[in-house]
Amino acid sequence: MGVRCRECEAGLQHCHGTLIRHALWRSECTDEDCTTPEVIVHTLVIDCDVVGCECTQPIGSDAAFTSSTGSAARSG
Ligand SMILES: [Zn+2]
Ligand SMILES: [Zn+2]
Ligand SMILES: [Zn+2]
Repeated sequence: MGVRCRECEAGLQHCHGTLIRHALWRSECTDEDCTTPEVIVHTLVIDCDVVGCECTQPIGSDAAFTSSTGSAARSG
């Protein structure tokens, strides 16, 4: 079992997972074994708003602040 692609055949550093690009923090990969969350090693790259993340809200827009209604994340 396993997917082989051109990069596999060539022995190049790459990842078969999907890289999710965030606006506010570093990119993450759907492959939990991924050790190189860099765009260049991924064939599939999507923006995080595709998966429902809201960190791509345009900076400088009032809507980014007024849209959050009391659902602040709390840790502890
Ligand atoms: Zn491959
Ligand atoms: Zn995001
Ligand atoms: Zn990856």
